[in-house]
Amino acid sequence: MASLVFVILGALGAAALGLLAGALVNTLADRVVGVDEPIWSASQCRKCLEPLAPASPLALGELVNRRVCAACGQPTSRRRPLTQLALALWLPAALWRAYTTPTLGGLPAWALFALAALAGVALAFIFIVDLEHRLIFDLSIFPLLVVILAAVGLFDRPRLVTLALAAALSGLIFLLFYGLGWLLYRQEALGFGDVKLALLLGALVGWPGLVTALFATAILAAVLSLLLLASGSVERRAFIPFGVFMTLGAAFALLAAPLPW
Ligand SMILES: [Zn+2]
Repeated sequence: MASLVFVILGALGAAALGLLAGALVNTLADRVVGVDEPIWSASQCRKCLEPLAPASPLALGELVNRRVCAACGQPTSRRRPLTQLALALWLPAALWRAYTTPTLGGLPAWALFALAALAGVALAFIFIVDLEHRLIFDLSIFPLLVVILAAVGLFDRPRLVTLALAAALSGLIFLLFYGLGWLLYRQEALGFGDVKLALLLGALVGWPGLVTALFATAILAAVLSLLLLASGSVERRAFIPFGVFMTLGAAFALLAAPLPW
């Protein structure tokens, strides 16, 4: 009985932390200014570019009551509530996995939870910015990569080699795709940000989690591309932000494959 209370309190605490993390990710993502014309940030209306009124940090209510632009009446995207919801579910899931499932590395459970939680926050931010702006910032990749490698190096040095190899392999695979894209289309079919993101993907899911992540990425990308093509809303050569699928693939592997640290 006491342990059940402990589990429930842990899950609620993690969910509350997820709401906070979601608010932080939303605030940061709203500040990102794109490079495509018209220059836009998510703090502006997508249609008329007027600044949106400040919103409550707790965005879940927007799932039902969508915000609308005061100037033109255009509803805002559901990204804010969905991000908060996703992280409020992700953190309890990370806690659950850290404390209950066997892992491949030697990190203590609290460190596993911290890494898995951070991974979810970073992946959510990368997903949003790639989706909204087709940008992947080095700052959303390399600090987490360094933290993962440092944590594994501290607790389980032999594991560091395996993890670094998984990161390098993942980077090489996407570098190959990047090169192929150039050869086939004579333009950047895959952004170089995706190649850098692949390094983080490898360190996040390790080996053999990388296989799971790559399969999930490929299947998601194929299904969604086919749906978009069938609906006629994209051209065949349209640029699809691939980082969106990579982050989803990584999140799937973190939930489905053994934690690699
Ligand atoms: Zn508007």
